[in-house]
Amino acid sequence: MYHPIPTRLVDIQGNIGYIDIGNNRYPVHLHFLDSAEVGDYILVQMGFAVQAIRQQDIAEKTHSSLIEIRSKIEQQLAEDDFTILLTSSTHIQNLHLNSIRYILPSSLHFLYGPGCPTCLTPVGYYQNIFHLAQKQSVILVTFSDVINMPTPGGTLHLLRQAGYDIRVVHSPYDVLRVAEWNPKKEVVFAAVGYDIMAAIVGVTINEAINRDIRNLSIFPSLQKREILLREFILRSNYHIDGVVCSTYDLPFAGADFYHFIVKELKRECCCTGFSAEEVLSGILDMIRHVRANDRPKHNGSYCTCPEIGNIQIISTINDVFIPADTRWSSGELIKNSKYVIRDEFNRFDAEKKFAILPDELLLMPGCSGREVQLGLKLPFDCSNFATQCHPGNPMGAGMLSSEGLCYTWYHSSYKFKVQ
Ligand code: SF4
Repeated sequence: MYHPIPTRLVDIQGNIGYIDIGNNRYPVHLHFLDSAEVGDYILVQMGFAVQAIRQQDIAEKTHSSLIEIRSKIEQQLAEDDFTILLTSSTHIQNLHLNSIRYILPSSLHFLYGPGCPTCLTPVGYYQNIFHLAQKQSVILVTFSDVINMPTPGGTLHLLRQAGYDIRVVHSPYDVLRVAEWNPKKEVVFAAVGYDIMAAIVGVTINEAINRDIRNLSIFPSLQKREILLREFILRSNYHIDGVVCSTYDLPFAGADFYHFIVKELKRECCCTGFSAEEVLSGILDMIRHVRANDRPKHNGSYCTCPEIGNIQIISTINDVFIPADTRWSSGELIKNSKYVIRDEFNRFDAEKKFAILPDELLLMPGCSGREVQLGLKLPFDCSNFATQCHPGNPMGAGMLSSEGLCYTWYHSSYKFKVQ
């Protein structure tokens, strides 16, 4: 859901573009793009194109072989250690798959953070939507990973089997149709995500106003990625030398998004695509740079995104939301890290409409998600990992979400470790 993969635009009709995946055409909203041409590669999130990339930009990116990069890293790290923060689960997966992670020098250390939106959201939030879904007047709409989220009371999936009206959508825009087709019901959209989700929820609210839809509200757990990343680096128990960022944030925020890591936090930073070669090339450049004793720099040479972000996305977020302090599942209160709906849009705020009280439960009992998120434990170190807790029976969000660290570890690294 959160990893935009460049996909070729094969047709455009008005504000809808079409992409071709496996000989099937899929419609994509072009709302956030100033211009797009057939043949462009577009980054798609939740049914919306969030950035267009010209074909030659991708073609220009060439990489040397993995083995060559690996031995250069080894030469550079002959004397000192180097600690890397990986910020994207896809980077982690690609380094762990094919065992690449295990052939790297032991002086190269990895941390993983700040975590995916589903994992960062406290269990108390999921308990609240669990209670909300049991109101007879409500249709609860959400995404597929939320439906199976364990709470002390059970999952939304079990409630649905018991006859409650709970629906899964692929884009927040689909929620409008559910509301229009069910005018006698209150449709509540449980929206969990980062900034781009906030933008799409903002567009959805504006469209609901245009269509005069009055039976729709949003119960948000929307996170400001920049703040969470900054806090993770500052609060880490380990010194982080370099940060590998993904192109995930850049379609809307632009390549400048990560400059705070270099300018304010004085760490190396590279923004890469998702392949193992791209990630290792970025790491090698960061290590070389530190060894040369230069000032930290942002290395964006592997990034296909433009420097400037998508202004429409940023202004949609600012029009509809304001930042607020909150406590995420790791327990720390983080200032301005959450998007809340502005007072002007109160009628779309489910928290106010249903007078929902905050639920302080952070994690499921027995889950070590906090330690895993903070880098104090690896998923392997949790006594439940791959025993009581596995993707078929997740005990926490980290094992449920396809972007969760425990899930990623289970699928990409666990098999290797067992072998
Ligand atoms: S393995 Fe399961 S119980 Fe352990 S930290 Fe991960 S999600 Fe929680």
